[in-house]
Amino acid sequence: PRLANQIAAGEVVERPASVIKELLENSLDAGAKRIDIDVEQAGVKLLRVRDDGSGIEQDDLPLALSRHATSKIRDLDDLEAVATLGFRGEALASVSSVSRLTLTSCPEGADQAWQVETEGRDMAPSVRPAAHPRGTTVEVRDLFFNTPARRKFLRTEKTEFSHLEEVVKRLALSRFDVAFNLRHNGRPVLGLPPAQTEQEARRRVASVCGPAFVEQSRQIDSERSGLRLWGWVGLPTFSRSQADLQYFFVNGRMIKDKLVAHAVRQAYRDVLFNGRHPTFVLFMELDPAVVDVNVHPTKHEVRFRDGRMVHDFLFSTLYRALADQRPGDQAE
Ligand code: ADP
Ligand code: MG
Repeated sequence: PRLANQIAAGEVVERPASVIKELLENSLDAGAKRIDIDVEQAGVKLLRVRDDGSGIEQDDLPLALSRHATSKIRDLDDLEAVATLGFRGEALASVSSVSRLTLTSCPEGADQAWQVETEGRDMAPSVRPAAHPRGTTVEVRDLFFNTPARRKFLRTEKTEFSHLEEVVKRLALSRFDVAFNLRHNGRPVLGLPPAQTEQEARRRVASVCGPAFVEQSRQIDSERSGLRLWGWVGLPTFSRSQADLQYFFVNGRMIKDKLVAHAVRQAYRDVLFNGRHPTFVLFMELDPAVVDVNVHPTKHEVRFRDGRMVHDFLFSTLYRALADQRPGDQAE
């Protein structure tokens, strides 16, 4: 079983960024409103995620670390709905098989927190009392300490941390209502209070994407026949040298989609931002029944029932927004 876990871990646990993704999704699934992330050496030495979510009952603690022990699918309807982000029930098991993992939790109403600890083994962990406010802390130390081959595939600390930070940023943009704090080697990297008002949302986007992006972008909010598109789209004055600044969320879930990319590119081109690399933080909301977000759970793909309509809506909304910014130009 240990080998099976480690093999399975290959799919989930590629690098610290993949661990943090699983841990954060668990915290969000548990209804956390505040998540504190502490990282040392890009997460290879330490990854700690602390949340104020619903917690785990004492008896369920060892189960949470065993394979296929998800608490999230009760019946087939759940599978269909996939309201929760994670549903395979093996992330914690996989991570625990390649690290030293401590899980501490205090569920709502309990007068005592409990803790389990594993060390890269498939042992039945013993449960001991601990101190913890309502919520859960998962501490992952010495990632890949027992799988040196995988450890060798890790890049520099800088690269690994930027992957990890990117995961946090995506989730922070998908959940304005949740506070996120990220520290690396003791230094605060992201401090994001919950954002309720539009101004607070703007501030969060500025923290995540840089103030220059927010200043040199056009804020939009447009609705047509059941489709809503809101967010920020970068103007050509904003040039980004490094990585892509392209975030597109469909019903709160980050996607990368050809149809979306095409519509954005076309809007840029037609407003004569030729050769400009589009930058955007956009949120599309539509009836979940007309979009299939589970085409490919890991590849961020979606399938729209009426792709043409979505494309037209995206294109025309963005075209209008961008064209407005060009004095003398006729916006349709
Ligand atoms: P999955 O998320 O697919 O169910 P995981 O291995 O990620 O599987 O987690 C196993 C189980 O542990 C979850 O189903 C959940 O019951 C519990 N769990 C993990 N992390 C948390 C958390 N932060 N808060 C509450 N429960 C958690
Ligand atoms: Mg999970």
